[in-house]
This record gives sequence, structure tokens and C-alpha cells, in this order.
Amino acid sequence: MTAIDTDAYSAQLRAKAVDLSVQALLISDLRGTAQENDLSEPVNCGGYGRIRHFSSAASPGWPPNPLPILPAAAALGIPPGDQMRAQVFQNAVCNWRCWYCYVPFSLLSGNEKKAQWFAAAELVDRYLAEPERPGILDLSGGQPDLVPEWVAWTLQALDERRAGDVYVWSDDNLSGPYFWSHLTETQRELIATHPRYGRVCCFKGFDAESFAFNTRAAPELFDRQFELFARLLATGMDLYAYVTLTGPVGERIGEKVARFIDRLQRISDALPLRTVPLEIEVWGPVAPRLTAARRQALDVQNQAIEAWNTEVEARFTPADRQRPIDEITL
Ligand code: SF4
Repeated sequence: MTAIDTDAYSAQLRAKAVDLSVQALLISDLRGTAQENDLSEPVNCGGYGRIRHFSSAASPGWPPNPLPILPAAAALGIPPGDQMRAQVFQNAVCNWRCWYCYVPFSLLSGNEKKAQWFAAAELVDRYLAEPERPGILDLSGGQPDLVPEWVAWTLQALDERRAGDVYVWSDDNLSGPYFWSHLTETQRELIATHPRYGRVCCFKGFDAESFAFNTRAAPELFDRQFELFARLLATGMDLYAYVTLTGPVGERIGEKVARFIDRLQRISDALPLRTVPLEIEVWGPVAPRLTAARRQALDVQNQAIEAWNTEVEARFTPADRQRPIDEITL
């Protein structure tokens, strides 16, 4: 399968997905999609939003996932529970095609038949008008950073409306430098210093081979993920990481996971403690994409998480490992 030309495809998708003149972006219509069947609450905001129940619970053998519950609760000054609801909007473009993505690929190509233009401030108003609105606003995708202005416009709109009880969370697949090439200095500063904003960046494998297997991007871009994370961290942004541990069947999985953790620690010694391994599960849109190799990749992640747990236990004290993720200093 030919690798995606990430930089060219990113530029093409960005052109389809943002209208700077009115601060608008293309948002996926979730009605009638394969994703809708996976939702526990009906879509909201006219079909363009959904409620996500974040939960820290994980399968046996997998570390709990406190994101974004702990940073959100700390920023909002509320007690963290095991679950928190979030309002999610998805931008309609992504430059990669992870086989395990729980979003249908038809919602990632900037298709106007399956999406609608919204000013970022209008999305904020729709969210604020929702009855029983959650305290977390999750700007998801897709790849939100193909339109990095979205986060800045949203924070600005919330500040203008004095919505101090909202925590904004966004995802980033660490694929390109748009944060620096498309934002003004003022926008970068707003995002990097806002007290109620956090970002999670996703490492898409434990080495170049698993990265390419997972994303269909060129294997060389695995290195770029680390460079981009380090660059974002240097801005002072409240930053977290996920890692997906699926990959092709191979030897020395444990050693490869250890080298991955070495690389995280070259950015910051404590970064593995701000990194949550995500177990890949077979949601509705994923099942038709499963091949024999991808089924085997689900077993690979079970070997890899054992190695992750062993390495983290060897490298950090119990007190370090029990510290809340938002209190880990990088
Ligand atoms: S980067 Fe994220 S949104 Fe894009 S295909 Fe992968 S999992 Fe889906």
C-alpha cells in the first residue's frame, strides 16, 4: 500500500476545511454514520456534536486513563471522579488513516456532503446553550491541528463570554508544524498559557515500523512525532501523550517498547508518566477494516503493554507512579 504523502495531503485538506475570513471550519455531521451506533447518548447540537463519557477505567493489565479527567478537574477546581462527560465536536479532516480509528474514513476527507461550516464562536454558542452541558469541551477530529486556529478561536470566544467554567481539550496526531506556520504569536501565546486548556498528543506506535503500519504514513514521520512533541512542550503548553501499541507481528517487542520509552525520556525524564497507553478496541467502524495482520496487531499490543508496565515499574518509584498525571512536571 502506498504511503500517504503527509505534507501534501495536509495542505490539501486544510484548504478544504477552514475559512479564515469568517473564522469557520468544517465540522462532521454525525447523524446516520457508523460512529453514531457507538454513542451512548444521542447526537446533539443539531447532529454536529456528541457527548463523550471519559472514564479512567481500563482493561486488566492496562494502566488507568486519567485523561482528561484529572487536568480538567484541577483546572475547574472540582473533585475528579472516575468519569466525566465532555462535549465533542469533530473537524472533518485527517491526514492519516489509522486502521483502528473509531471515526469512519468518510468523515476525514473534508467531504461537504457529510459536514457543515461553522464559525468557531457559533459552535461555542451551541455548546453553551445545551441543557446539562458538560464542563469539558473536546475539540476532536479528524486532526484538529490541520486547523490550529480552532483552539485559539474557541478559547477567545469562551473568554469573551466569560465562560470560566469550561475546560478545553484537544487532540493532536503530531503530524506537522501548523501550530507554528499558521498561528500568530498572540494565538500561540493564548493556547500555550490558557489556564483551562490541555492537549493530548498521540504517538502512533512504538517504532517506525509499527507507526507506518498503524497510520499509512511514511515511517520516517515517526521521528517527527518526537520533534513536534518537544517543540510543543517548549511553548509551556499543558501537554499529555497517548501511545497506541499495535504493530505488525515481530520479534523483540519488549526491547522496542523500551527504546520507545528511552526516546520519551530524552524529551523529558518524567514524560512516560504523562503518557497513557491506549488499548485499541474494535468499535463499529473498525470491524470492517480488520485483516489477519490487524487482528494479530491486537495481540501485539498485549505483549507491548506488558513490556510498558515492566519498564515503567523499573524506571519510576511507586510514589512517582502514583502521582496524579497533571502534577507530573516535565
Ligand atoms: S490520526 Fe486520529 S483521527 Fe486521524 S485516522 Fe488516526 S486515529 Fe483517526
